[in-house]
Amino acid sequence: ASRMALEHAKGPALTRDRVRIAVMANVGNADDTRMAMESGAEGVGLYRVEQAYIGRTQPPDPQELFEEMEQTLDPARGMPVCVRLLDIGADKPLPFLGFLAESNPSLGRRGIRLLLEYPELLDSQLRTILKLAEHFDLSVLVPMVCVAADMLAVRERLRAIATRQRISKLPPLGAMLETPAAVLDVRKIARHSDFVSFGTNDLTQYAFAADRENAAVERYFDDASDVIFRLLEIGCEEAGDLAVSLCGELAGRPDQVSRILQCGIRTLSVAPPLVPAIKEAIRGCTLGHQP
Ligand code: PEP
Ligand code: MG
Repeated sequence: ASRMALEHAKGPALTRDRVRIAVMANVGNADDTRMAMESGAEGVGLYRVEQAYIGRTQPPDPQELFEEMEQTLDPARGMPVCVRLLDIGADKPLPFLGFLAESNPSLGRRGIRLLLEYPELLDSQLRTILKLAEHFDLSVLVPMVCVAADMLAVRERLRAIATRQRISKLPPLGAMLETPAAVLDVRKIARHSDFVSFGTNDLTQYAFAADRENAAVERYFDDASDVIFRLLEIGCEEAGDLAVSLCGELAGRPDQVSRILQCGIRTLSVAPPLVPAIKEAIRGCTLGHQP
């Protein structure tokens, strides 16, 4: 019986009307990725690389960064893996950047904004990722994209580094959609993106102006509200043929899976232990006619 349960967990997730949905995992280290594979994840939908940087007095050197990323992704070798560029800001200090005093860090230099201000920090990740892409079925996600120019800038850096390293095939480059501005402007962002992924944790924080870490405003932070689903619908519509995934915590709520799929999203990425329950929820859904 347990072998049957395991095969079920590892099997694909098809809706009742036989639409295949990819269920991937969010990971931060090798233990997460191992657990994800044991739980039947079909790849890594979001690798948060922050653990390789936080608590260090110097940024990891290229060899250290390569080893850390390779170790984390190793259990998922042969499967699609998505590495997100460093998503950090003034709220999480990196001693080697100096002190970035900001009165409003979540509206300040975080994610791609910080990386564009410290190009060497961006370039070292892109170099490592290009090297990793020789060994993995890898794509790259850009955090905190707000305007198309953010993606264009990363695309240009990636191209320049690949040219220098004589690499002709670039890994797919995707934008995180985690601000209302990015969602509403996804048509323009899409010109420089190969895929997009909704980050509903931040999208909720920025849509409701409610700090995701502040319990005092928790009642405003509703990631399953009609407002968020309206944003998901608009984003999916505007994204056209671009592949769209969802990697915020909303994706890990079995009771919301049907609504998420109704928006047109076909890839979910969730915390490793949630993979089996989300696959089961998908198997109970009927999509009916889809746009
Ligand atoms: C999100 O914002 O939904 C997301 C997936 O990214 P993080 O939780 O790492 O900010
Ligand atoms: Mg986020």
